[in-house]
Amino acid sequence: MRKQKKRGFTLIELIVVIAILVALLLILVPRLTGFTSTAAEVQCRQTRQKVMEMVKAYEIKGEPVSITDLLANKDDEYFISTPQCSSGGKLTALEIKGVVTFIKCSIHGSNVANNLDTTPIGIRNTTMGIIEFLQNNKNYLVELTGNAGMNNSAIRNFIRDTVYGGSWPSLDQGVISAAGLSGDLKIQICYNNEVFKDNIINNENAIIYASSVEGKGKDNWGTNLIYNPTDNQWYTGKTTIYVMNHSWKEVSDLMSANNWKPVEYTE
Ligand SMILES: [Zn+2]
Repeated sequence: MRKQKKRGFTLIELIVVIAILVALLLILVPRLTGFTSTAAEVQCRQTRQKVMEMVKAYEIKGEPVSITDLLANKDDEYFISTPQCSSGGKLTALEIKGVVTFIKCSIHGSNVANNLDTTPIGIRNTTMGIIEFLQNNKNYLVELTGNAGMNNSAIRNFIRDTVYGGSWPSLDQGVISAAGLSGDLKIQICYNNEVFKDNIINNENAIIYASSVEGKGKDNWGTNLIYNPTDNQWYTGKTTIYVMNHSWKEVSDLMSANNWKPVEYTE
């Protein structure tokens, strides 16, 4: 039998193939660049997740381990290779028992374990727990908040970005409309800087309020919706109250002086 002679490419076919390849490259290159950064982010998140899962696994096994030890792969005990971010981000682990546990990448952000309580009281307790932790572990202060002092804004932004993933939890729309307000109001917190002079950490100095405006600078800390932690109700009034650096006592005095009323609302 005679073998059929193989036919090569004609010049036209070659030009068409090259043109298609060039077109594909032009499309693929930019997409590939974007994809690389996404892949690194996914890798980083999965690494952090794996460490979290290991913490849980040891807990279930009845042999709780430190998340910091796991992340550092202390004595090469936990992983074949030490968990790393492929983009070279620095991974920091922090566990504040009973409050929050998280691993933060300096490039890709954080993921937080345990189910966070996002009610006003839950946010206050989380914030105060973290403040107390930082107060007792000053070596974490700069690393976590980027600020050497117990600075209201720095700690507040740290809690917003690292613990709540970049945005404060939204307030129930029912409360917002019952208060005669509108928009996507976020539950936020601030505390009195003065407490750190006296070394007093307590809930009396944490003010929970709702606003769509981020608290930056003196004029933006005003609100018309404040949570009263003594009777667990939201209060509202026509006069804006500035919460920055006030104690709960000062704020509640202002609320009654300005005839603020509880928001009539049932869930
Ligand atoms: Zn990373």
